[in-house]
Amino acid sequence: MAVESPKSPEIPESPETPEPPGTSEFPEVRVPDGETPPRCPYCARPFRTERLRALHLGDVHAEESTDDQRVAYDEAREAEREDLFLFHLKVVAALVAIYALLLLAYMAASAMQTPG
Ligand SMILES: [Zn+2]
Repeated sequence: MAVESPKSPEIPESPETPEPPGTSEFPEVRVPDGETPPRCPYCARPFRTERLRALHLGDVHAEESTDDQRVAYDEAREAEREDLFLFHLKVVAALVAIYALLLLAYMAASAMQTPG
């Protein structure tokens, strides 16, 4: 239930007001005033993005979810996999760059120590 609260910056938003069954299954989540995040239709848990909700639906509510939700879950998993692949590429690139810099520094230092 939505509580009409005046803007009071000193008081952080209280714990989630809706009390769905199985509230203790996920950690306490605070939703800032005025935001209406996508929520799980089964347990009312709020999510930052639709993709995260789709992943939650597929992982936690696989049996009761609809065909549309399963499709969204598959798409979200695919997008997640691509993001993870990109992240791994960036990590490898960063490691190669660090290795190259260290090698150059080593070569420069050893060149300065042996004149001629
Ligand atoms: Zn849920």
